[in-house]
Amino acid sequence: MNDPRAAGRFDPDNRGEGVLLIYTGGTIGSMPSDPEDPDSPRVAIPWEEFRRRTPALNRTLADGSPNPSWIGFNVDAWWTEPRDSCNVGPAEWVELARVIESCHDRYQGFVILHGTDTMAYTASALSFMLPGLDRPVILTGAQRSHLFNARNDATQNLISALMLANPGFSRVPVIPEVTIFFNRTLLRGNRARKVNATGYDAYQSPSFPPLAVAGERIEADPLLLRPRPGPGRLRVRTALEPNVVPVSFFPGIQDGKLLEGILDDPRLRGVVLLAYGAGNIPTRPSVLEAIRRATARGVVAMAVTQCGGGRVELGMYETSVKLIDAGVVTGVDITPEAALTKLMVLLGDDDLGPAEVARLAQQNLCGEMSLGVYVTRLEQPGTVRLDAARPRHRFAARRFEGLDGRAGEVEELVLRLRKAECRTGGGRLAIRLFADLGPDEPADPGSDRLVGEFGRRPTDPAEPGRTMFFVITRAAHKLAGDRVSLTVALDTDDPAAVLTWESAEVAAFRPA
Ligand code: ASP
Repeated sequence: MNDPRAAGRFDPDNRGEGVLLIYTGGTIGSMPSDPEDPDSPRVAIPWEEFRRRTPALNRTLADGSPNPSWIGFNVDAWWTEPRDSCNVGPAEWVELARVIESCHDRYQGFVILHGTDTMAYTASALSFMLPGLDRPVILTGAQRSHLFNARNDATQNLISALMLANPGFSRVPVIPEVTIFFNRTLLRGNRARKVNATGYDAYQSPSFPPLAVAGERIEADPLLLRPRPGPGRLRVRTALEPNVVPVSFFPGIQDGKLLEGILDDPRLRGVVLLAYGAGNIPTRPSVLEAIRRATARGVVAMAVTQCGGGRVELGMYETSVKLIDAGVVTGVDITPEAALTKLMVLLGDDDLGPAEVARLAQQNLCGEMSLGVYVTRLEQPGTVRLDAARPRHRFAARRFEGLDGRAGEVEELVLRLRKAECRTGGGRLAIRLFADLGPDEPADPGSDRLVGEFGRRPTDPAEPGRTMFFVITRAAHKLAGDRVSLTVALDTDDPAAVLTWESAEVAAFRPA
């Protein structure tokens, strides 16, 4: 869309410089519906009235004389029908993204006035919809509007957001991403959560520090700022998949059929599983089977924590290993709001199949996760079976994702053998992994090609199809390089010893 007037409204007085203020309504723009009754339900007022009642936005007073309360730079406006943010969703996000796209190069930055209830969703969605953004896009709102309250948080939030959106004027660094300014702090939008329904500190980003703090001066943290992509890099993504849902686990969900009802719905394309703690769910077979049925037909399932902070560590407890077995990917410390909108945007891209969406969902795309998970699938002809007679499998040489030049930063590197089974006749069994072991070289534990040596108990016959994990972090540097082959070798003299697996992958957990 080239003409932003086509949707919403573009103020005829706009000059095309300074900051573009995008007004959508919310508490910051709301007043009592009955002017005689201050306690009557509040409704968002039209933009023209909002502007009239907001002195900082007006260069002159009604009589044409200079306004001493003017912010000091030009603020243009675009507005939608004013609404409570409960009525903002994907259609409005697309409108906002298009306005920013069409006006991107004309303004120093953008401020979106928005209700607080769904601000984190809009900020998260826009962060994924606006890759290549070279300007600040700052959402803000208020718990108490300045329109009818002398004591309010709206004025500070609005003025500080406008200042941050005009870095040249305010002498702050350019923060070229989607953020939320609230109660003194500028937060990365896809890390922020509404944590207080009434307090002025409504927004926090539990797993990421504020990008800037506004006190007597506005101080940005230079270590947290992303580099500017430069002009001409903005690529707006406006296709969003609507059939994505969050499902929060609760004690008792395993007893009913509701979860299966959601997961078996043929329209479902993506699900955010709000798991307990570090990614745990009830292990009742009906729950796991329902998840497995969904992922098997291409639904992308992502686990996030329902705690206020911390991260998902799939594989830490028995109850979360089963999520990996069921084809669930990890969201690490992504917020539920960012997980939902990330899946909407990735699944909306027709060029990406479910496997590719699942792969990208675990990677850090725009600062939403502290760690990215880079998964390299290892090709193999079919099920691999190792035993005393044929004790080795060598995967073809390849490049492992996430290790390029950064092997030293990897927090965890793990080989996963999926649907793996191990049996012995009671004898000793060791599993050794090697990097670039030649076909004739001995699988010797003293070899400097050794990546790790592991013991494994025989698989419980009652629980077939489990994923076997081998943590090989300390040998990450041995797998870094353009073409490295990985060899799995059994060391046993037990003629009944067998190790089989159906597919294999290496996952690197690396800081974003
Ligand atoms: N219900 C309002 C909204 O989200 C709440 C607010 O703005 O604070 O639009």
